Amino acid sequence: MDEPQRERDPESYFGAGIGGGRGLFTTGGAWSGPRSPAPAPPSVATITEPAREIPVHEETDVLVVGGGPAGTAAAVAARRLGQRVTIVERYGDLGGLSAGGLVIWIDRMTDWEGTPVIAGIGAELLDRLPEGALAGPGPELWGSTEPEQVAYWRERLSAFRDTVCRSPMIDPEWLKITSHELLVGEGVRVLLHSWVVAAINDQGTVRGAIFESKQGRRAILAKVVVDATGDLDVIAQAGGAFVTDAEKDGTGGNVQHTINTAFTWTGVDMRRWLAFKREDPAAHHELMSRGRELLGFVDTPHVGWRDDVVVFMGPRLSGYSGLDVEHLSTVELESRRRMVAHLDFFRKEAPGFENAWIMLAAPQMGVRMTRRLTGVLPMTSADWKAGVRHPDEVGVSPSPSQKFPTISVPYRALLPERLDGVVVGGRHVASDAATQAFMREIPQCWMTGQAAGTAAGLAAGAGLAPRAIDVGELRGELRRQGAFLHEP
Ligand SMILES: Cc1cc2nc3c(=O)[nH]c(=O)nc-3n(C[C@H](O)[C@H](O)[C@H](O)COP(=O)(O)OP(=O)(O)OC[C@H]3O[C@@H](n4cnc5c(N)ncnc54)[C@H](O)[C@@H]3O)c2cc1C
Repeated sequence: MDEPQRERDPESYFGAGIGGGRGLFTTGGAWSGPRSPAPAPPSVATITEPAREIPVHEETDVLVVGGGPAGTAAAVAARRLGQRVTIVERYGDLGGLSAGGLVIWIDRMTDWEGTPVIAGIGAELLDRLPEGALAGPGPELWGSTEPEQVAYWRERLSAFRDTVCRSPMIDPEWLKITSHELLVGEGVRVLLHSWVVAAINDQGTVRGAIFESKQGRRAILAKVVVDATGDLDVIAQAGGAFVTDAEKDGTGGNVQHTINTAFTWTGVDMRRWLAFKREDPAAHHELMSRGRELLGFVDTPHVGWRDDVVVFMGPRLSGYSGLDVEHLSTVELESRRRMVAHLDFFRKEAPGFENAWIMLAAPQMGVRMTRRLTGVLPMTSADWKAGVRHPDEVGVSPSPSQKFPTISVPYRALLPERLDGVVVGGRHVASDAATQAFMREIPQCWMTGQAAGTAAGLAAGAGLAPRAIDVGELRGELRRQGAFLHEP
């Protein structure tokens, strides 16, 4: 896994750009030609599109754009306030990167004592997954520092810094199904295969969005919009302010800007692989070094939600933008080339991988960060390191290590500095780059999504701008809907 707060395997590939590979690429004999397509030559030419009438597809109270973790939670939260809610998603399913992106490793939801500080709709989704669709320690183990438990769960990515955590592996298909069931069951209107391409900005207030689909271009009008696109598309389309900087995050590289397509294989025996790692660390180290030497890159295999499934969340590629279609195309092809090179190597060399076969290359590209909101109060590492508790706290994040207290998430980080009619949830909430390193994790996106949806529901219900709602009422409603907040 790749997140900075995680303990990293020393052999993890980190941050090389495309072109680092040495071309061991024999499986199936495919793709022996160029590694990636040449980008289109830059052009300054433009055309003028004629003005046209756009049909209004529907009018609603709350429009949620983006059906990832943040959007899913936002839609449910707003709907539970009795509002009409429509969610628009560009792909054919819900779950975003946690499903279509094969990011099936849900980061920590518990603090270092084992208290589930990320609760609410995210936890509800996990609890609704059927038997066999989730692998992780039960509540009785959260916070345990018992060495045997830590050793067992560390191998399965649910123990960090000598503490067992709520941090399970999940089956992405069941997350999609469970998300669909939850939203449809609550009465949320789900519009799939619909890509929002423009915000409707009425003199500084967002009043809906225009989307494109097989039916062409259509509008949805709403009292309040939640931008849960992960890339802050709605705010950017409305002309709102954002930042795009990234910075060293203390793990040896600039993780925020790395991109790749994750992949899963099956036909593997991960128990054998884990035993090999555990019982012969020198041989394991030598194998991974040889892989890096031969391939020019090597990524760490992680046991999935079953012992016959492995997930690779890299190799990461750096120097590309998640907003540039030429870059996205290049990274997509290169990630698949690397996946096949891995398959070739692991099948030949790695215990437990002899019969591995490709289950899925993620349909959704793994983009960690593009734009972040310029919000009323961006979260900063200085604040959370100092243990600042915000009076408008709408969520609590686990801290990256035992050195720091749990982290208070202010409502002001979800509010644009200037635009009205819109609130944001997800990996693009207002923060500095170091804080985004954990605020982008799936549980945190569920949390800010739930807060954004609750705020949007209250604002739509009262006919107020999101920034004008009563924060005490928002916090009360979040608690009522199961969110964890510090006592005032
Ligand atoms: C490779 C990788 C590994 C990671 N590892 C972990 C991990 O181990 N644990 C962890 O917890 N987190 C991890 N993360 C982070 C986490 O997966 C994401 O940051 C999180 O899913 C973001 O949630 P979100 O709802 O903000 O955005 P997303 O999950 O990106 O969802 C946004 C949704 O909006 C849709 N959308 C976007 N634009 C539009 C538009 N214009 N119109 C309509 N729909 C649109 C997208 O299709 C998508 O469904 C990882 C991320 C990556 C890329």
